[in-house]
Amino acid sequence: MSGGSPRPFREPKLVLASHNPGKLAEFQRLFAAFPLELVGAGALGLAEPAETGTTFVENALIKARAAVAASGLPALADDSGLAVAALHGAPGVYSADWAGPGKDFGAAQQRVQNELAGSLDRAAAFVAVLVLAWPDGHFETTEGQVRGQIVWPPRGSGGFGYDPIFQPDGDSQTFGEMAVDDAGIARKAAFSHRGIAFRALVDRCFRR
Ligand code: IMP
Repeated sequence: MSGGSPRPFREPKLVLASHNPGKLAEFQRLFAAFPLELVGAGALGLAEPAETGTTFVENALIKARAAVAASGLPALADDSGLAVAALHGAPGVYSADWAGPGKDFGAAQQRVQNELAGSLDRAAAFVAVLVLAWPDGHFETTEGQVRGQIVWPPRGSGGFGYDPIFQPDGDSQTFGEMAVDDAGIARKAAFSHRGIAFRALVDRCFRR
């Protein structure tokens, strides 16, 4: 269970319960200074579970528990998405689905722009929920959010997903313009939902 006294993480190996190479690159950068081996679900040949939850927390728990069950190792899951204010929080937990089975994020970005047509309100937030789960059933969870604006046309070739259409408040670059190299991935993490949730998790479980 989460809550109460946090459990320190002392294991040498951690599975990242994701097949998303963009997320893996960001977590590899975030964990670079930590004495553990981070291994992606894809590298272990783990199946991708169906994300049948209706909240970020439910889906993160589904992914973390599936990876623990299949690998016997502790696992970290990230469930995240883009919540556009004028679209009542869509695409939200369905952010990956808007790209379709072909994972066409150009089309997903275009859909956000189409659905916003006529709206002057371009406010949006990225949200990430992390679940760190152990084989004995214990888990810890944290959340991060970053506010920003939807821009059009898309800008930048870095990052993944909706990065080229999201400009965080407090910067003139989109995440797509920032996350083009290792230093840029670190700069994105200073702002990002994932970076915020990660730092909260470090406070709970990885403080040395
Ligand atoms: P899921 O967490 O695997 O369900 O997928 C989250 C989806 O949200 C991703 O496929 C992206 O479309 C989107 N997303 C989450 N975080 C980011 C980010 O940092 N940048 C761009 N898109 C993101």
